[in-house]
Amino acid sequence: MISSVDDVVRSRLCISCGACVAFGCEESVFMSEDENTGMYLPTLRRSINTWGTGKEFSVCPGKGYPIEGMGKHLFPNALNSNVDLGQWDSAFVSRSLNDSILENASSGGVMTAIAEYLLNENIVQGVVVTKMQYSCNGPRPESFIATNLDELKEAQGSKYCPVPLFGDVSQLESFPGKLLLIGTPCQIAALRLAQRNDSRLVDKIPFTIGNFCGGYRDFRETDKIISRAGMNKNEVDFFRYRGGGQPGTMVIRSGLKQKKLDYPGYARMTGVIKHRRCRLCVDATAELADFSCGDAWIPEYLNSSGSWSIVMARSPLAKNILMSMKEHGRIELRDVSEEDIKLSQKGNLTSKKNRQACRIGLYRLLGMKAPEFDGGYYHKCEGFLFEVKVHISHTIFSFLEKIGLYKQLAQLIGRYPKG
Ligand SMILES: Cc1cc2nc3c(=O)[nH]c(=O)nc-3n(C[C@H](O)[C@H](O)[C@H](O)COP(=O)(O)OP(=O)(O)OC[C@H]3O[C@@H](n4cnc5c(N)ncnc54)[C@H](O)[C@@H]3O)c2cc1C
Repeated sequence: MISSVDDVVRSRLCISCGACVAFGCEESVFMSEDENTGMYLPTLRRSINTWGTGKEFSVCPGKGYPIEGMGKHLFPNALNSNVDLGQWDSAFVSRSLNDSILENASSGGVMTAIAEYLLNENIVQGVVVTKMQYSCNGPRPESFIATNLDELKEAQGSKYCPVPLFGDVSQLESFPGKLLLIGTPCQIAALRLAQRNDSRLVDKIPFTIGNFCGGYRDFRETDKIISRAGMNKNEVDFFRYRGGGQPGTMVIRSGLKQKKLDYPGYARMTGVIKHRRCRLCVDATAELADFSCGDAWIPEYLNSSGSWSIVMARSPLAKNILMSMKEHGRIELRDVSEEDIKLSQKGNLTSKKNRQACRIGLYRLLGMKAPEFDGGYYHKCEGFLFEVKVHISHTIFSFLEKIGLYKQLAQLIGRYPKG
């Protein structure tokens, strides 16, 4: 049983979102980077015995949450509902019709196009987004409130790393207007948990866009990749995990030096494995967001020119917004079947929905704490031995990385990306 924020952190289930800091009641807690785990963790300026079990714990997505119940409560009129994709009204393959949005997008630029539309129509006055910033710690994400297209473009691209989206709550509280929030499924869940506690937050943040999510690794990966690309993290002046077409490339730049690495091949450059809480996540498509966006990994679209996204509208209102954007020439919308969405997210859904029962079982057997959900994944445990095998290989890769032998051995067995 997970019973406090401290428990979440010690069990390596904290996803760095900062909701406990933002929506808890104690002002002397802040998010700081922890070198050992490569994550941002809640840190107390002074010891407070009572902190960690109250409101701050209730909003923590790391411990798990009633994903099915919350989805049904949020989207009672959704036309479709199943364990894989949650509740949704309609879904499309889509892309922005603005070339300048497409240029820096991870896929079809739909997240940014929706954000721009809601700003232009004055439906919201600000958008919570995340850009990269550069310091002696290396490239790190920074969330801020964008109020125009230039700022939205500055924040484009997927950040496959921990993001303390709610770390600086004063920004949200003092912003004079309504907000759209863009985030990962667990960040959206944190907001939804906070909105259950405080209806003012529903009014303040009436719209959310979530990305489909296969999870991320921590900053130990980011920093190792930079050093293996022959650069110093504290000299990097431009960094992106992905962008410039689908699937796109990682770019690391330091002065005149630039390195491009294939996505997702760069993930094999280190032995750092996906964050534990991501491995124990059951939300593949941001089931609690008003709009959910992911890549259109569908052969027909991968072979066509340009990049495409899948966008799911989870409520009739979200669908109307997409329709209106289409009418105003902001996005292209094409019908997509449920089967094609599932095909597009096959690996992601298999991992989060089909393999999860066995994985959670194995982790618990090994004495690790796992988040609690009210469902949201198939409870049939098949392939237990496969999970054992995966767990052993993960353990070996992380151990090799820790003792500094990963690169050499990965090269020897042909796992390390060439070039
Ligand atoms: C960690 C992670 C894992 C993902 N896994 C998958 C997957 O398995 N399958 C799949 O189809 N798609 C996945 N995606 C989504 C995909 O990478 C694109 O975000 C999506 O296709 C939308 O692209 P776009 O061109 O519309 O977005 P863009 O126009 O590029 O805009 C992206 C928006 O997302 C925000 N953002 C990016 N990263 C973060 C973050 N970590 N936290 C908060 N906000 C962020 C940016 O601020 C920006 O506003 C993942 C994204 C992330 C961040």
